[in-house]
Amino acid sequence: MYKFQTFNDAYLESRTYNKGEKVAGFPPYVTFELLNNCNFQCLMCHTTYLEAEKQHLSLDLFKKAIGEISHYGSLVRFIGYCEPLLYSHIEEAISYVKSKNLMLHITTNGSLLTERMIKIILDSQMECLIISFQGLSQEEFCFMRKVNLKSYNKVISNIKSLYNQRTGSKPFIKLTTTVTERDNLSRKDDFIKEHLQYVDEVQITGFTHFVHLDQCFHNDNIWERLKISKPDKIDNLFCHVPNYEMLVKRDGGLYCCCGAFSEDMCMGNFNNDSLHHIWHSSKAEHIRNVISRGDMENFITCSVCPIRYVYGEIGNTVMNARKDTTGKYQQ
Ligand code: SF4
Ligand code: SF4
Repeated sequence: MYKFQTFNDAYLESRTYNKGEKVAGFPPYVTFELLNNCNFQCLMCHTTYLEAEKQHLSLDLFKKAIGEISHYGSLVRFIGYCEPLLYSHIEEAISYVKSKNLMLHITTNGSLLTERMIKIILDSQMECLIISFQGLSQEEFCFMRKVNLKSYNKVISNIKSLYNQRTGSKPFIKLTTTVTERDNLSRKDDFIKEHLQYVDEVQITGFTHFVHLDQCFHNDNIWERLKISKPDKIDNLFCHVPNYEMLVKRDGGLYCCCGAFSEDMCMGNFNNDSLHHIWHSSKAEHIRNVISRGDMENFITCSVCPIRYVYGEIGNTVMNARKDTTGKYQQ
C-alpha cells in the first residue's frame, strides 16, 4: 500500500514506472472523468464538439471504485474532459474520498467555485486544487473559452475568495495555463506576477493542443480560423504512461491514460469486475506493450497526443515557467 505524505509523492512514485521496465502493481494515482460535460465550450476542447449523450458516473460505481482504491492508498484525481464541479454527486464524492483517507486533487475551470463549494472544499481538507486557465490575457481567455468579461472576472473573484478563506495550507492552489501563437509571449512574467497574488503557484505548461480537433473532431479548418500554425510531429517516441496511469470514465470504463478519449484504449469495465483485475488483464498488457514500443498510430488518442508534437523553433518545453509563493522560480 502506498503511504504518500504529499500529492507530489504520488507523482514521484509514478516516475519510477516511466522507464518502461516495470508496471505499477496498482496505479499510484487514479483519475476520474466523472461526466462528459462542461459549462464552458472552449474552442480547443473536444468536449465542445462531442455529440454523445451527457452522462454522469453513478454514485454507487464511484463508491465501489474508491472502496477498492482505499486498499492501495493511491492519489485520487477529478480531472478529464469535463468540469468536475458539475458532477451531480460532487459533494458526496469529495467527502467519500476524504472519509477513506485518500488524497484528492481536482482540476476545475474555477467558474463554479460558489461560496458553498468553497466551504465544501475547505472543510474537506483536500490536497490540491488546480484552476485551468487559457492564454496569457483576459482577451485570449474570453476568446478561447467563448465567455464574456463578466465570466472572466467571476472566475478571478472565485479564486480570490477561496484563497482568502483558506486558513491552512490545504488545498494547495495552483493556476495553470497553456498558450498559442495568438498570445503575446513577452507577457509571460507579468501573467505569473499578476495571478500569483491569489494562488500558491502559477504554471505555463506549454502550447494549447489542436491536432485532435483537426483529425478526430471534424475541425480541419481550426488552424485558419484561429490563425495558428500546425505543430511538427515527432517520430520514434515511446510512452510508458500506461504503466502507471488509470482513468475511470463515467460508464465504468477503465483506460490506461488520463488523456484517453477513444474506445480503443479501454482496458475493461469495472461494473462487474475489479480495478486491480482489469489493470492486470491481457487487454491492458496488450495496450501497454503496443504503446511502449512506440506503435502510437495503433490508438486514436495516441496518434494525436500532444507529447508527439512540437512547435517548431520555439519548442514546447521552453514555455514551462513556474513560480510559487516561496519565491522559487523555474523556467
Ligand atoms: S473549461 Fe476545460 S473541460 Fe470545459 S470546455 Fe474548456 S477546456 Fe474543456
Ligand atoms: S495518449 Fe499520449 S500520453 Fe497517453 S498513452 Fe498515448 S502517447 Fe502516452
